[in-house]
Amino acid sequence: MRAAGRGTFETVSTDATADIGLTGLATMGRNLARNMARHGHTVAVHNRSYAKTAALLEEHGDEGDFVGSESLEDFVASIRRPRAVVVMVKAGEATDAVVDALVPLLEEGDIVVDAGNAHYEDTLRRQQALAEHDLHFVGMGVSGGEVGALEGPSIMVGGSEHAYERLAPVVEAIAAQVDGTPCAAHIGPDGAGHFVKMVHNGIEYADMQLIAEAYDLLRTLLGLSPAEIGEIFHEWNDGDLESFLIELTAEVLTHDDADGRPFVDVVLDQAEQKGTGRWTVQSALDLGVPVTGIAEATFARSVSGHAEQRAAAREVFSSAADVPTIEDRDQLVEDVRTALYACKVVAYAQGFDMITEGSNTYGWDVDPGVCATIWRGGCIIRARFLDRIREAYEQEPDLTTLMTQEYFARALKDGEAGWRRVVSLAAAAGVPVPAFGSSLSYFDALRRERLPAALVQGLRDHFGAHTYQRVDRPGSFHTLWASDRSEVDAP
Ligand code: NAP
Repeated sequence: MRAAGRGTFETVSTDATADIGLTGLATMGRNLARNMARHGHTVAVHNRSYAKTAALLEEHGDEGDFVGSESLEDFVASIRRPRAVVVMVKAGEATDAVVDALVPLLEEGDIVVDAGNAHYEDTLRRQQALAEHDLHFVGMGVSGGEVGALEGPSIMVGGSEHAYERLAPVVEAIAAQVDGTPCAAHIGPDGAGHFVKMVHNGIEYADMQLIAEAYDLLRTLLGLSPAEIGEIFHEWNDGDLESFLIELTAEVLTHDDADGRPFVDVVLDQAEQKGTGRWTVQSALDLGVPVTGIAEATFARSVSGHAEQRAAAREVFSSAADVPTIEDRDQLVEDVRTALYACKVVAYAQGFDMITEGSNTYGWDVDPGVCATIWRGGCIIRARFLDRIREAYEQEPDLTTLMTQEYFARALKDGEAGWRRVVSLAAAAGVPVPAFGSSLSYFDALRRERLPAALVQGLRDHFGAHTYQRVDRPGSFHTLWASDRSEVDAP
């Protein structure tokens, strides 16, 4: 059976009227399809179980032109050629199952778009497999959750230029718009879109952890209530820190549960880290990029979830914070604000380093400025700050690190003293600040003339003859530690 138009039903026809098809009508797919239809595109819709298709047509069929199909064959037949079929199902095996079922129904030049949260290596694999059938495969990162999918997400499109040309009228129309620019772009070939989406999610992890640490510092060191801290975040949202997540923080902290208790006090303090944050850290290790902010944020979630170890430690060690007297409350609030901003600069600098490294490794030619541009709206990390990053890459496309660009360097210099005071106070009081602390260490590591890595190299040469290089002449060397300790040229 096939249902067409605004909630009406018709028997199977061979008319290929739909501009685009979308299969997988759970929360994200359903909203994305509605968004497409609301922008005047005729959308073929399908779901493994027909109930979701019927519900979409029943509840939202009047929002635009839908062509609903019960079978995958009818669904494919209803899309105009070259077909663009968006798959929005559970990532992993479900995506493979749907793609495998689609392939025999498609024709040369058709495009399969995976809009789920796929790992970019899966996207690379699927792209190669579909190329053998003369089909395009597009890995498309969609950020913004349920609301973004309906009202305008940020869309990171991988795949060929040719495929993007076919998709652009739809994706650029449904994306969030900032200053008249769509938050959607062609990021690069094959896995580039999903890779950038993965790093985006990693940065989101770091952003949230930094905010959480700032909250904990203000609460523990100053004894402020969640609502008072919510007000501080509300004020911060008028300045450089202005962002979706800071705005949400103010809302969450000022919210009370039905019994009038601060919401944040009744939520179990154990977070999960099963998603793209973990992928980002795993990939960063493979690429050799230090994304310490993202890694600490991911591990902080793991620590929170280790309830048994936490209970055991509380039994043995005092859990009370040893808070020194704070003479100047306003100064500490300002220090936490500048420290939060400095840490955010570090986290984004690391994330953009990872995008650059991934792009170089896979030959994607990703423009980091484009990533900053399309993250300004629609996605969870949308922020005023991203305009600064866009400008930085516009002025200097080959920027070595965001941290040394004039604007961000000034922010780090201006915030440095407060940043150090905050991290020292946290250590003295026993407040865990893994992301604040590691960001400061990363900053210090980059700016140091000499690092103790020289000693590490010496140790490696001693126990494993791993050799080392010298600062005063080229070549590789080994010291004969077990004999006369003379130095020889390494082979
Ligand atoms: P979901 O819960 O991840 O997946 C449910 C959908 O997958 C249903 O349409 C289901 O069909 C279909 N499905 C599952 N196994 C299948 C199989 N073997 N064959 C065919 N279809 C199968 O849905 P979602 O939350 O809307 O997310 C969709 C995708 O978007 C995921 O990749 C997710 O990671 C990504 N994403 C989600 C968010 C978010 O905020 N939720 C944000 C960004 C990206 P049935 O109805 O027949 O079971």
